[in-house]
Amino acid sequence: MFDNLSDKLDKAMHVLRGHGQITEINVAETTKEIRRALLDADVNFKIAKEFTNTVRDKAIGQNVLTTLQPGQLMTKIVKDELTELMGGDAEGIDLSGNPSVILMSGLQGSGKTTFSGKLANFLKTKKSKNPLLVACDVYRPAAIDQLHVVGDQIGVPVYSDKENSDPVSLAQAGVAHAKANGHNVVIIDTAGRLAVDEAMMTEIANIRNAVTPQEVLFVVDAMTGQDAVNTAKAFNEVLDFDGVILTKLDGDTRGGAAISIKSVVNKPIKFIGTGEKMDAIDIFYPSRMADRILG
Ligand code: GDP
Repeated sequence: MFDNLSDKLDKAMHVLRGHGQITEINVAETTKEIRRALLDADVNFKIAKEFTNTVRDKAIGQNVLTTLQPGQLMTKIVKDELTELMGGDAEGIDLSGNPSVILMSGLQGSGKTTFSGKLANFLKTKKSKNPLLVACDVYRPAAIDQLHVVGDQIGVPVYSDKENSDPVSLAQAGVAHAKANGHNVVIIDTAGRLAVDEAMMTEIANIRNAVTPQEVLFVVDAMTGQDAVNTAKAFNEVLDFDGVILTKLDGDTRGGAAISIKSVVNKPIKFIGTGEKMDAIDIFYPSRMADRILG
């Protein structure tokens, strides 16, 4: 299993010790093990292959087999590579606008509304910001109500207008409302669909053009594995978004989505969602995620 990758590495490398002349073939056996673990974790085949090739080259280059604890060194190489693959250092979000506009995108059920609330709460309590939430899902009145419930929970006002069925003018009105009322951050929650569809993409692209956000964030359910990667790709092609939010990492997920999404869209993962509560949000740290993946 993926969770015990470091145990597996230790075992695989243990066997190699004391063999005198250790060959590339032995390393290849170990990297095959790593590749299998990555595939088990829903990492895309091509990425897993490239990854293991890099690890193999590094292992040979660093003479991993002549050290006393090859398992540990191998684990370190794998961890460093995973960290690198997932984006190096943590990236923040751009709060330079006045107000800063953050546009949320993603499929229905990905956790957009919940995350909008979490982010508003995070910015309010940790960054002393005065955020406004804007409800732009004109198709599902329940979604607007849900954002109000979230806003009430965290004490952040919500701008909505059930009479207005045009999401673009709603978003603009929301930003104008923020300006008029001294909010320095505006978080716009948009309508998702169950699957990628052109109408949704056009709508969110129009909102984007109308309000020129500092940040376009793409929210994706980490539990959806390979689908998450395809969805990320589709949204990125249209929106060229600035960052990814990986939700539901508290669930029984092996974390492969983080590796695959970052590799495919080459955009930073900025935050993770780790539960349904408003404080279940964390900044994404690639090295921590690598630790989690290694178990
Ligand atoms: P939206 O349709 O994209 O706005 O998605 P919602 O915010 O309504 O979330 C869909 C469901 O996922 C809700 O039941 C949320 O409580 C739940 N949810 C959202 N984020 C997380 C998370 O990080 N962990 C868990 N376990 N559940 C989450």
